[in-house]
Amino acid sequence: MAGRVVILGAPGAGKGTQARRVARKHGWPHISTGDIFRSHVDHKTAIGQKIESYMHSGQLVPDDLACQIVVERLAAPDCTSGYILDGFPRSVPQAESLDQMLSDRHESLDAVILLTVDDDELVERLTSRWTCPHCGKIYNVKFNPPKRENQCDKPECEGVRLVQREDDREDTVRSRLRVYHETTEPLIQHYGRRSLLQRVAGGASPEAIEQEIEGMLTAQGAS
Ligand code: ADP
Ligand code: ZN
Repeated sequence: MAGRVVILGAPGAGKGTQARRVARKHGWPHISTGDIFRSHVDHKTAIGQKIESYMHSGQLVPDDLACQIVVERLAAPDCTSGYILDGFPRSVPQAESLDQMLSDRHESLDAVILLTVDDDELVERLTSRWTCPHCGKIYNVKFNPPKRENQCDKPECEGVRLVQREDDREDTVRSRLRVYHETTEPLIQHYGRRSLLQRVAGGASPEAIEQEIEGMLTAQGAS
């Protein structure tokens, strides 16, 4: 059976971590619009140049661009048996556009998982988040620091310095949270009305959260 899953939550709620775990376990592609956009910015593509200023200031990139990227990605052959969408949809128009995309293909979502975490905790997490640019591993300099200061622990990343995302600075983090509350939170109703939404407390350990999500997906028949 296919599994089409959306993972929702504020910036820093742990969407990326959980989406990667679920994707690995089920063999579904992990589609993170944030990662796709960052890669455009890093490679200075035409799209990257259009979206750079939105991303750096913590604003959403325009809906039509986000939707275009997702339509293209979902049309790829690796998406036929399922996928996990992380960071999309992020506004009601994006969710409506996803509904349309799915119904055009006679498909539907199997689950929408909402990770909930308090704002204060989110600010704390994001402003102390550093990543290895080589393997993508995420560290928290306060709660989960690397063994050697500023360096990835993995042997294959020897000598690689950790980097902070440009949009993880405190003022930008606050803008991202504002955008989340104003523009993304209405999706809770959008999906809640169709009983697709399942809430998971995002404060537990990554392993416990993963198990809870897994239980929900099994109950939902997505596997
Ligand atoms: P986070 O969830 O931690 O904010 P992401 O990596 O998902 O991080 O997104 C980073 C940035 O990429 C967002 O702040 C926004 O500028 C842009 N972005 C990602 N997904 C979307 C989307 N679906 N629509 C509009 N902008 C997006
Ligand atoms: Zn690494």
